[in-house]
Amino acid sequence: MSSIADNIRSVTRRIQKATEASGRADGSVHLLAVSKTRPADDLRLAAAAGQQAFGENYLQEALDKIEVLADLPGLEWHFIGPIQSNKTRAIAEHFQWVHSVDRLKVARRLSEQRPGSLPPLNICLQVNIDEEASKSGCNPRELTELAVAISGLPNLSLRGLMAIPDPEQSEEDLRASFQRLARALEDLRQNPQVEGPLDTLSMGMSGDLEVAIAEGATLVRVGTALFGQRDYTH
Ligand SMILES: *Cc1c(COP(=O)(O)O)cnc(C)c1O
Repeated sequence: MSSIADNIRSVTRRIQKATEASGRADGSVHLLAVSKTRPADDLRLAAAAGQQAFGENYLQEALDKIEVLADLPGLEWHFIGPIQSNKTRAIAEHFQWVHSVDRLKVARRLSEQRPGSLPPLNICLQVNIDEEASKSGCNPRELTELAVAISGLPNLSLRGLMAIPDPEQSEEDLRASFQRLARALEDLRQNPQVEGPLDTLSMGMSGDLEVAIAEGATLVRVGTALFGQRDYTH
């Protein structure tokens, strides 16, 4: 069994190779370690190997880890799971990034509840890029309106878009999904009513990060390839 530090090195190598193969600048793709279901000690090992950005899906589990790991300097916490609107306060107080904003109500609450002592909360809008009935994410046709509305909120910084494409599709269809997300970000950048850095395309996971990077991902969210298969049974 390979160690977490080895896995970080090999995923970093995959990212570098894909970045290079796409003719993109070295260092233009960031690695978010998706640590849902993993014990805090696994994150400690990853941090010791230089990984500072962690993505979590379940709020209470994340808050526990944030507290236990508070002695580690420089960790960056990203919330990437579905958001219940009554849970926004803890997210606004404890995270630096949220990738899963898909409605205005949640964005308004995050902005209102972001402590004034902290910098603006970095936001990616989650887009239901394959328009799957059961999936979270805003409808692609409603994205512009949502982005314009969120632009006006004072304590948020609109960094870009996130999607989780349908994993059952062919590589060709997957590529097309990533391309649609990249194009949607480009459209927002061209829109004078949308404000924010708009510098982030959060797409690509353990199995498809090369395709995502070829299509413009700036941040890949990787769990299994770093920490092994997740076990949800306990
Ligand atoms: C679990 C999860 C990931 C990581 O998926 P892997 O296939 O384990 O790399 C990425 N993004 C989101 C939103 C997730 O929930």
